[in-house]
Amino acid sequence: MNFKDYIRVIPDFPQPGIRFKDITTLLKDGPAYRAAIDALKEGVAGLEIDLVAGPEARGFVIGAPLAIALGVGFVPIRKSGKLPGETVEASYDLEYGKDKLAVHKDSIQPGQKVLIADDLLATGGTISTTSQLIRQLGGEIVGASFLIELGYLNGREKLPGIDVFSLVKF
Ligand code: 5GP
Repeated sequence: MNFKDYIRVIPDFPQPGIRFKDITTLLKDGPAYRAAIDALKEGVAGLEIDLVAGPEARGFVIGAPLAIALGVGFVPIRKSGKLPGETVEASYDLEYGKDKLAVHKDSIQPGQKVLIADDLLATGGTISTTSQLIRQLGGEIVGASFLIELGYLNGREKLPGIDVFSLVKF
């Protein structure tokens, strides 16, 4: 399946000059959504994985079904102030803007093998911060899976030592 055909590009969103990759057109197509999750699962075949962790909000729509497909648990990485329990937090720059992410302190046990998942790798800021939080809790990152990778932004370079899997490249 050519997943690129299911992704809509919207110019000048959320600000002028950004060509936003809209995945809602893929998500609303049941067979395409299912095939994308299956392909992401296939990409990490052979890896030992205890947990999938994904950043809010689109990391949930990729990470949670991927966790179910792999038969492991899911750890939500959320914007600061949203999680009810004790958290660790980290700030980061986005392709556009700034943000702060948080994770529950007890969500990952030291030594657990964690696969990171998100819809899209752009500058790598979100995933690099996500990986900092996971490592702070003692988790071992075994890879990072994305539906889309914006190759021209070189996000992979912000993830040294992490194997990156992506289905569609722009
Ligand atoms: P990064 O931190 O790698 O620069 O940006 C990636 C994060 O921003 C992801 O969590 C992703 O959801 C969001 N993002 C940035 N640009 C786009 C885009 O064009 N399309 C979508 N769907 N998400 C984007």
